[in-house]
Amino acid sequence: MLRNKELFIFDIEGVVVPAIDDSISSPPKDVVFTLNELRKIGKKIAFLSNISRIPYRRVADILVNLGIAESKAEVFTAGRVTAEYIDGRKKNARVFVISELGLIVDLEIDKNIKVVFEKPIDFVVVGMKRNINFDEINFALEAILDGAELISVGHTNYYKGDFLGKKGLFIGDIPICEMLSFASSRPYIKIGKPAPAIFGHILSEYVVEPKKAVMIGDKLETDIKGANSMGIFSIHVEPIVSPKHFLPPTDKEKIIPDLSVKNLKELLNYI
Ligand SMILES: [Mg+2]
Repeated sequence: MLRNKELFIFDIEGVVVPAIDDSISSPPKDVVFTLNELRKIGKKIAFLSNISRIPYRRVADILVNLGIAESKAEVFTAGRVTAEYIDGRKKNARVFVISELGLIVDLEIDKNIKVVFEKPIDFVVVGMKRNINFDEINFALEAILDGAELISVGHTNYYKGDFLGKKGLFIGDIPICEMLSFASSRPYIKIGKPAPAIFGHILSEYVVEPKKAVMIGDKLETDIKGANSMGIFSIHVEPIVSPKHFLPPTDKEKIIPDLSVKNLKELLNYI
């Protein structure tokens, strides 16, 4: 079933590592074994996460240091792809960002994009920000009404977690963009899974057609839904830890993967 596939795209959190975290000292053994077997028979490998709280470069370093990724180029985050999207649309773009540090590093340091707090603004970019305030939402609205393009980086409805010593619920990027879009009557662009943008970006980097690609993920609403909509073969795998608390908008329709496995090693049975 998978023999003719050329590119295997792995979701990161819950699939190849429990979470993006500097404290992981060794990679899950079965993960490295499976990746090595796939590489031995010439399969191309990519890693994909909707993360933007942590800079792309740190996510890539963690995967390379663990021996999971062979190079940083194999790693794609929503932050990296957003920066490349903006850079492709406009050189030296001026961007107003509602997000934590990761996305700002991806935009300002890795690309020559200017993160600014004054008009004119070319793009308003919304990621996860756990201490969001109304001044920035109002400024974002003003920028959008003046013609800035609105971008949602991830695909989170809300997030359960800790921030500055407090436990709580934090509103995600999608409802913030919905609010700004509603207020301004302007549409917004989605970059992260399940949006086609992030999958299309990887396929074109690897020069692989969707039907020759496989997406392996633990979340139906992002990994599997996105792959299905692109015509990429979708494989649902049980998460290696209890799932993280980033809750995507709920889907009314049932999302069915092309294949379900308990762990990554099981993939090798289909090759
Ligand atoms: Mg995951």
